[in-house]
Amino acid sequence: MSREESPLSGAPLKDEEPYDRALRPKTLAEFVGQDKLKENLKVFIEAARRRKEPLDHCLFYSPPGLGKTTLASILARELGVNLRTTSGPIMERAGDLAALLTDLTEGDVLFIDEIHRLNRLVEESLYPVLEDFTFYIQTGKGPMASTVKLAVPRFTLVGATTRAGLLTGPLRDRFGIVGHLGFYSLGELTAIVRRSAGLLGVKADAGGCEEVARRSRATPRIANRLLRRVRDFAEVQGTGAIDRAAARSALDQLEVDHHGLDVLDRRFLRALTEKFGGGPVGVETLSVAVSEEVDTLTDVVEPFLIQAGFLQHTPRGRMATRLAFDHLGVKPPARLGELFA
Ligand code: ADP
Repeated sequence: MSREESPLSGAPLKDEEPYDRALRPKTLAEFVGQDKLKENLKVFIEAARRRKEPLDHCLFYSPPGLGKTTLASILARELGVNLRTTSGPIMERAGDLAALLTDLTEGDVLFIDEIHRLNRLVEESLYPVLEDFTFYIQTGKGPMASTVKLAVPRFTLVGATTRAGLLTGPLRDRFGIVGHLGFYSLGELTAIVRRSAGLLGVKADAGGCEEVARRSRATPRIANRLLRRVRDFAEVQGTGAIDRAAARSALDQLEVDHHGLDVLDRRFLRALTEKFGGGPVGVETLSVAVSEEVDTLTDVVEPFLIQAGFLQHTPRGRMATRLAFDHLGVKPPARLGELFA
């Protein structure tokens, strides 16, 4: 199973967009968690409103499914402006960007998802736009080439990335507001599941919501996805209502374990503990061992495993923790004994 099809990937699945939209919080007040970032954004929004100026460009970074797109749409709504959405890899030429920019109205929010994947020419044409809202168009070729200056409406760029480290320095420096979204606590995720169950008309009690939340890799998109799958099981095999027992039995059938690890997480940890004795081992080697791309491992699989205490990054490579060995029931090699003592 590729990560795209895996129930625990934070990336959206093909048929998921309508649900994503329906469950997406519309205001900052509805947006659960990320309190510090929310507080700051509230101030920046209010200041921009008072000055009647567009909000500064914002960059949000986090693993997939933690709320970057949601925040962009909330910003547009709270500012009372339009939201335009695109993504880095879609824009092939600077002309694609020009077409988008000339279509904006003063103050609009332009959201670029996966902004680390902009090609170099498009990215470089964005620099002057972000600085003083000027777009330079190259016309003609060779000796006939010339540059035309185009003024674009003053707007707010909201960039989202799973890899802040891959952004070039010049691009990163042009964002006035940079926000990191962290994984959600169990309490926050339980509140998200409760809210989603209400919106979907699913009967779920406190224990059922908490169980779904507990196994969702601390990620709202996964929580919403598992809620829908658990609802299917509850409707077909149970009474339709979700309590803790119903959630547990459905999640066990989905092979999501009590830590929220899925098949790929466990394959990754098994390779690390059994084939490589717990490491240290390079991510490229692990990528071959589990037949997954390095990017999927670093962007999607590893962040949660690190945060949940199963994995460590060390200068010499990836290392499994004692918790990983215990969880899989694998005996750590003697050389790690001292480390784990
Ligand atoms: P990202 O852009 O980071 O991949 P999204 O913003 O698309 O993530 O969020 C995925 C889904 O998770 C959204 O549809 C939304 O329903 C839900 N979600 C994300 N963050 C929150 C939050 N803080 N509170 C409630 N729901 C959230």
